[in-house]
Formats: sequence, C-alpha cells, structure tokens
Amino acid sequence: MPKSRAKVQKPDSGTAAARLLAWYDVHRRALPWRAPPGRRQEPYRVWLSEIMLQQTTAAAVAGYYRNFLSRWPNIEALAAAPLDDVLAAWSGLGYYARARNLHSSARMIAREMNGRFPQTVEGLKALPGIGAYTAGAIAAIAFDVKEAAVDANAERVLARLYAVEETLPRAKPQLRRFGQELMPESRAGDFVQALMDLGATICTPRRPDCENCPWTEECEGRKRGIAETLPRKGALRARPLKRGAAFVVRDGTGAVLLVKRPEKGLLGGMLEPPLGPWAAAFPSADEALRQAPFAAPWRKCAGVVRHGFTHFELEIEVWTAEVDRGCPAPIRRNSSGNAGKMPALRPILADNAKWIPVEKLADAALPTVMRKIIAHGLNSGGALVTQTRSARKR
Ligand code: SF4
Repeated sequence: MPKSRAKVQKPDSGTAAARLLAWYDVHRRALPWRAPPGRRQEPYRVWLSEIMLQQTTAAAVAGYYRNFLSRWPNIEALAAAPLDDVLAAWSGLGYYARARNLHSSARMIAREMNGRFPQTVEGLKALPGIGAYTAGAIAAIAFDVKEAAVDANAERVLARLYAVEETLPRAKPQLRRFGQELMPESRAGDFVQALMDLGATICTPRRPDCENCPWTEECEGRKRGIAETLPRKGALRARPLKRGAAFVVRDGTGAVLLVKRPEKGLLGGMLEPPLGPWAAAFPSADEALRQAPFAAPWRKCAGVVRHGFTHFELEIEVWTAEVDRGCPAPIRRNSSGNAGKMPALRPILADNAKWIPVEKLADAALPTVMRKIIAHGLNSGGALVTQTRSARKR
C-alpha cells in the first residue's frame, strides 16, 4: 500500500480545537436547523437536516427543511404521513432513497422506540439511510457525543491542515482518525458544526482564505504551499452514457400521463412519464414507437434532455402525443415486438399510472430529471419525426 509522500506534522489538538471554537463563536452561520448559541437542537431537527444535507448544499436544503418542519413538526407526524406525500415534498431535492429512508426511519422510531432517537453512533447507524458520517454528526450535534463527522468538506480541511498527500479515497481512514483526534472533550456538536462552517466559508475548494482562518498558524498545507492542491484525488472513472426515449402524453383536458416507478431502486416510488429502457444508443424511430405505452400520433421533439446521475449520464429523446381523454388501450405485442395478438409487454396503464393536471405537476412526486423531460415535451420546439403508427381504436 503506497505511503503518504511526506511525514505528517500534527498540530496540538487542544490548541487547534480551541481556536476553531473561538472562531465559530464569532463567525457561525445562521442556518434554519441550528439551535441558538449555547443551546442544543432537538434530535428530530438535527436528523432531518442531516439527511437532507447528504450530498446537497445548505442553500438548496433550507426551503425543503422549513416546508417539512411546517408539515411534519415532529417524528410522530412524519411517521403518520403517507410515503407519497413525503416523496412529493422531497421532489427536486434529489437522491430520493433518502426520502424513503427518512420515512421508514420515522416509522421505526415512532413505533418501535417510543419516539426516542437512538443516542449512540451504533444505534443511529442501525436506522435506514444513516452511515458513519451522518451518525457522527447527529450524535455530536444532538447529544454532544465526542464523535467526528468527516464528510467531503471536512476531508478537505483536514487534508490541508495535516498536509495529507495520500489520494482519496485511500486517505479517508487517516483523515477520519485525525478528525477524531482533534475533537475536544466538550462542545462536540459545536466543533463538528465549526468544521462544517470552516469548510464552507474559509477553507473552500478553490482559493482558501488562509489569512482569515483560525488554523493559519498550524496549517501544514499552507506552510508547504500545497493547500489548494489538497486533497489529492485518485483518477476519476468516466461515467457511462445511457440513452433512451420518454413519452409525454396529454389528454384532452391537458392532463399528463405519469407512471409510478417501482418502490426499490433508482428514483424508487417517484413518478415519471412512460419511459423506454436505457441503453448505449437511442432507439430507432420504430423501436421507440414499439416502446411507447400505446398507439398514438407520436412526434419526436427536437433536441435531447441531459441529466447527470452519480454513476452515469443520461440522454433522453422525448416523444409527445395528445389523446382525447383517459387512457387509450395499451399496444399489444408479440415477442418480436410487433403489434398484434399477444398480451401487452408493458402494462403500464394498470394500477400505477395516472393522469395529473398540468397545474398539479408542481406538487407531484417528480424527480428533477422527469420534470426536465416533461418540460421538454410540453414546451417542445417542434417535431422532427411524425407518427409512423396510427392510434388504435378503443
Ligand atoms: S490555513 Fe488555509 S488551507 Fe489551512 S485550513 Fe485554513 S483555510 Fe484551509
């Protein structure tokens, strides 16, 4: 296993922690989920905000946090809410497994733990959707447990403070150890939040403001002139590109046909317009029309919709159609994909499809990528390909 390229110089942890806390007392960010100075926040609020903040910025989370809190002010209210309502309220925040885990954790805590949050890291990690970082953050902030919470921002600050040149992700355990060594005996929650604020406002990825940093004296990365190059990252793997077709259809009232995705997996339980499978290439026009949910005068919109997921990039061609009212019958195909005598292969028009009026789309449980697809279909710049198969009579 490769070693760090230079010996790590450790600052005095007591002095470093005291300096960071003194800085925090003056410069702490006012965030909606933070308790006033000297007070400890309710576990429910800490947990809600920490789940929302996973891979999402504080600016993006603030409105969602306030909305959730006003609709479901405590764990019992959230546990009693229908999952579909929670997913709809989460719509646009991304990483939808978080919303499902939030809801299922709420039910576990309310029903199996008498509404009391676990107070240990191990207990918190047993809840769905809570990993080491989130458990550490909740334990420290809500219960003042001396537990480091080292996310990507904290990793950056610690890699610079200690001048760790080992690449990520190999350096993670070492950075976590350093974070734990710095933790003070008291004010664990403040220390964790101070590290978050330092990473967000001073020790930023580019051009860290070292002159105004409470760790400017002890920061080894600054002294060696390499701070901005840290943390080092291993070679990034190119994300594969997937392509497919989506079908945005309106009925005579302007309502849009949406289908519920399976509960498990990517965007689980969320709504989407009918989609074909995702593959390396776009389907041909004939293939796309075979993937369509039913026969209709489909037109392909100009351009494509692009969206980046964590592990792949997606490009979607959007087909649109208008039908008179309600659901036309699904296309029936045989195994070669021809319309004909066999039962439908994609019976999406059964229980999990519904027509949503356009004015209600804003409140529907639609992830961002599906909103982009629907907007593209509804605001299409014109057809490139017109129908090749006429609508089937109902
Ligand atoms: S001195 Fe500069 S590089 Fe070091 S922790 Fe502070 S802001 Fe980051």
